[in-house]
Amino acid sequence: TGSKPDISREKSAELYEKAKNYFPGGVNSPVRAFKSVYGTPLFIQKGDGCFVWDADGNQFIDFCGSWGPLILGHNPAKVREKVIETMQNGMSFGAPTALENELAELVIKNNKHVEKIRFTSSGTEAVMSAIRLARGYTKRDKILKFEGCYHGHSDSLLVKAGSGLVTFGETSSLGVPKSFAEETIVVPLNDTAALTQAFAQFKDQLAAVIIEGIPANNGLLMQDPAYIEFLQKICKDNGTLLIFDEVITGFRLGFEGAAGYYNAKPDIVTYGKILGGGLPVGMYGASAEIMGQISPDGGVYQAGTLSGNPVAMAAGIAQLTELLKSGFYKELNAKATEFAEGIQRFATARNYKFKVFHVGSIFWFAFTDRDKIQCADDIDPASMEKFKVMHRELLNRGIYLGPSGYEVGFVSAAHTKIELEKAKRAILEALDIVFRN
Ligand code: PMP
Repeated sequence: TGSKPDISREKSAELYEKAKNYFPGGVNSPVRAFKSVYGTPLFIQKGDGCFVWDADGNQFIDFCGSWGPLILGHNPAKVREKVIETMQNGMSFGAPTALENELAELVIKNNKHVEKIRFTSSGTEAVMSAIRLARGYTKRDKILKFEGCYHGHSDSLLVKAGSGLVTFGETSSLGVPKSFAEETIVVPLNDTAALTQAFAQFKDQLAAVIIEGIPANNGLLMQDPAYIEFLQKICKDNGTLLIFDEVITGFRLGFEGAAGYYNAKPDIVTYGKILGGGLPVGMYGASAEIMGQISPDGGVYQAGTLSGNPVAMAAGIAQLTELLKSGFYKELNAKATEFAEGIQRFATARNYKFKVFHVGSIFWFAFTDRDKIQCADDIDPASMEKFKVMHRELLNRGIYLGPSGYEVGFVSAAHTKIELEKAKRAILEALDIVFRN
């Protein structure tokens, strides 16, 4: 089999031309612009189960899942019905509702890392607020993040490593003051020496270390359990709070996310995505003592007109209720593992330099012959050219992956074995084409 002809993108291209008049790059979030893959972005018209349809009527098995929230697939009846029922009574009050209590109970009863929480409207807001909380609680200003972790687009976190093992960050966006970036220290992942050096240099200035529970925004960078243990200890020894950003991993790897996976004890956790059932929700939480610093109880200010929005709460309640059903994660993870391992077996048998890294229902396709990829520097940027070819071949075979080789994919409960088998066959064909060139 050879390359398939390109799918029709007439309507999508037309919509994209229009969108470029309204939005920078024609989009409301940069990765959607298809800058690192072939063609113009597909405008999605509808989603149902594991499928999406674009404006030209092309159908795809979707592994992007709105970048993570859709663990039950698109438009699941249970979530949709609860949302519609809730909307009959209005859409926003800016006053407390019982629905907030209900979602909070689902979270807190099933997660030993949080005693009190606060809902926000995005992951970015959750993380930004968690950082402020850590600074307010410790009365320190500096934070430490890792190269290769993404934590949303707030100023303190749009910071990348400079040159050297331990560095003051350099801004990774125009518009972030240099003085802000200097409050953020950046070190490589999975590197105890770098962490030790950073603490030696900045120990009583570090309010928090923030890490994605399992880094999944720059490939899937599994950390050694011993490293996570070391990280916890060094934070504790220095009075620095450890923040697990679980916006992707929260409710994806079970109700305790990566903290549960590593049996770790972060001081503050942040969630988003799955928690909102596809509507805009974020959350941060900690012990009652730490959360006691948040306004109006404490002096750390944080607020939101639409925080705890009833419709979004309803979606979260309906989705989390499904996830709590016995065997949910076991079944989902087994399905995803079989999918990932099946692809890997094929690639290995053909000696392709291709690895499927996976954990739970998260997977990442890497064009590499390394057995482990644990920090950003382990990724060869040139390998992204291969991803580009694969992405095109997959779209042409009815498979939708997020439009960047640095992004992970998600298997949802709506992917049946039949569709996973179909997707696997398409992926194998695409690999044959990638490696033929
Ligand atoms: N933290 C992590 C780990 C994320 O993956 C993301 C989004 N991909 C964010 C924070 C930011 O969340 P949002 O896009 O909802 O603002």
